[in-house]
Amino acid sequence: MIERKNFTKEDWVNFGKEMTADRQRRIARAKKWKFDTVATHGLYDLHQALDYNNGSIMEPVYLSPAQAYTNATEMEAALAYEMPTWCYTRIANPSSYFLEETAALLETYGTDIEASCVATSSGMSAIRTATDPFLVKDEHFPNPNIVASAKVYGGTFQQFWVRRFGEQGVEVRWIKNPLDLKEWEEKTDKNTRFLYGEFPSNPSVDIFDISAVAELAHRYEIPLLVDSTCASPALTRPLTLGADIVIQSASKVISGSGTSIMGLVIAKKNIVSKIGADEMKADFAIWAKLWPYRDNGPAVSPMSAILTLNDMRTLRMRVAQMSRNAMQVARALEGHPKVEAVHYPGLESYPAYDLAKKYMRLVDSGEPMFGYMLAIEIKDRPGSSVNARKFYDSLDMIWRATDLGRVKTVATLNAISTHQQQGEEGRKLASIKPSTCRIACGVENGDDILADIEQALDAV
Ligand SMILES: *Cc1c(COP(=O)(O)O)cnc(C)c1O
Repeated sequence: MIERKNFTKEDWVNFGKEMTADRQRRIARAKKWKFDTVATHGLYDLHQALDYNNGSIMEPVYLSPAQAYTNATEMEAALAYEMPTWCYTRIANPSSYFLEETAALLETYGTDIEASCVATSSGMSAIRTATDPFLVKDEHFPNPNIVASAKVYGGTFQQFWVRRFGEQGVEVRWIKNPLDLKEWEEKTDKNTRFLYGEFPSNPSVDIFDISAVAELAHRYEIPLLVDSTCASPALTRPLTLGADIVIQSASKVISGSGTSIMGLVIAKKNIVSKIGADEMKADFAIWAKLWPYRDNGPAVSPMSAILTLNDMRTLRMRVAQMSRNAMQVARALEGHPKVEAVHYPGLESYPAYDLAKKYMRLVDSGEPMFGYMLAIEIKDRPGSSVNARKFYDSLDMIWRATDLGRVKTVATLNAISTHQQQGEEGRKLASIKPSTCRIACGVENGDDILADIEQALDAV
């Protein structure tokens, strides 16, 4: 370190090039590993531990807001972004760095696709961070619209409908049936800035043909953005199917033990977009991190980053157990005398069962697996929620909460919670009935989850 006191700016830039080459070597090494190994080790190796972190075998939590520089020339090179730096935790941080690198590797797993990631303070801020750059002023396309599946999380619906459309005047064209390619085609035009879908959607578990919709987006020279929170990279990796940007609410299954609110934006290198500078398209997530994210400030806490990284290591095994439980529950409830309908991509009665089988497979096993979330409708008079509420209030072990992806099973009545504020019209678009109950299976033994549901149904 002492001799670096005399480094010129050029020396620092060259030193930065070595750091970048070392990162590339670590990425190449991780690209050869299986999913669980990538999730466990990411880019943190012995060299990182010994040279920077007192030999700690786990990635440390850097709560410090700022990075010290050796001399003025290092500060100058670093703040001109001419060498890798973390500088200030609103922009970057060593703890969130390891989370971001691992997330980018997992979303591109099994391919040589390169991606980068920016971690944000919540899933909603990830959606904002991912979509803002496409909604900037552009004189060639003065009246922007976005085309989005209506089967989206309530918060996303509100962000698009209230904030984007209501406050900013961005036209939002909802896709009522995301399986219908014609509808996507009819609603997309030269003023469309991006296409947006959820895979599968929360809570109606709707899916869409990612590759076909990506192809349509690219024909219009615009990106496809996919929120795949409810699949997670353990089942589906939209970037490998043609999507340009993936959004994860890492508050859900990625941090399954329930310690953090956090979002991830993972973008391919060289995304397709007719809006924005070449620099933005070349490496969207890093560009967003260094510029708009820095200025808007949705930074993630380093503590949350490490807690999330710790959970991410066991993502695949948790998703496998949770998916098996969801399948067991879905099968048992289908045809139950008190249940009107069960929505789960793993059931043959599911309208897009073949597409689900094609896109949802447990990574490194190939076994079709359909995620941890199902939606059920409790039999009742049309429009009534009396029985659904009775069922809901009778759950004993399963938690009543607006949450999902947790190691503990959680049930939600969506019409009065996640999707309350969007009103009846909005709920109709999102296929949410008063009797819809979302069940997000945890990692308990499936027999116990089912027993609790069955006793609650008996009480109806
Ligand atoms: C929860 C959720 C979000 C929002 O994430 P937060 O971390 O709660 O902000 C976005 N998309 C989906 C599919 C979700 O389930």
